[in-house]
Amino acid sequence: MRILVVEDEARLRELIGRTLEADGYEVVLEGDGARGLTHAEAGGFDVIVLDLMLPTMSGLEISMRLRRRGVRSPILMLTARDTVDDRVAGLDAGADDYLVKPFAFAELTARIRALLRRNADPGGRELRVEDLVLDRARREAVRGGRRTELTAREFSLLEYLMRNAGRVLTRDQIIQAVWPREFDGGANVVDTYVHYLREKIDASPNRALIKTVRGVGYKLGS
Ligand code: CA
Repeated sequence: MRILVVEDEARLRELIGRTLEADGYEVVLEGDGARGLTHAEAGGFDVIVLDLMLPTMSGLEISMRLRRRGVRSPILMLTARDTVDDRVAGLDAGADDYLVKPFAFAELTARIRALLRRNADPGGRELRVEDLVLDRARREAVRGGRRTELTAREFSLLEYLMRNAGRVLTRDQIIQAVWPREFDGGANVVDTYVHYLREKIDASPNRALIKTVRGVGYKLGS
């Protein structure tokens, strides 16, 4: 289960991150609004925790844009003020729930569990790019009628590439999105995992879907 947390107060962001990781969630932390939107659009998150007041783009704006673009991940809005107007604005913008600061971490995790229950499969069961299908429930890739099991990391990498089909992704972008944030190995690990994926989904006679963009990174699909 992947959770995106967009919160500009560094201490609170770290605390939320640690709390959620301790509960076994995979967490992506971001302090900036516009970058948060980019993550949210790309990531296939099971829940998005959005602070209302953020630099460069507010939580309301992020939420509205995500809904307009068809991203259905449940959104939990964090707000510093508890006024009816704020709550209504948040819900109108597409948030599923809100929490007023300061809050107890136990309440945060309870709200997240409730959102996960309500949205058993927010990202959709299947992802499809051309003739490649990612079965999210079974964590398998299907191509040319052949099913292939994926390891957790291969699955996350392929999901990220598929959600960003047609876009060139740098190794750093891929590492930020797919590897845990404490990862401090080199960018070569991306090449290694792309190699594994190619053997599973791009092997002959299939046409290669994962393309190397020399000096930059990778792109899936045309
Ligand atoms: Ca804030």
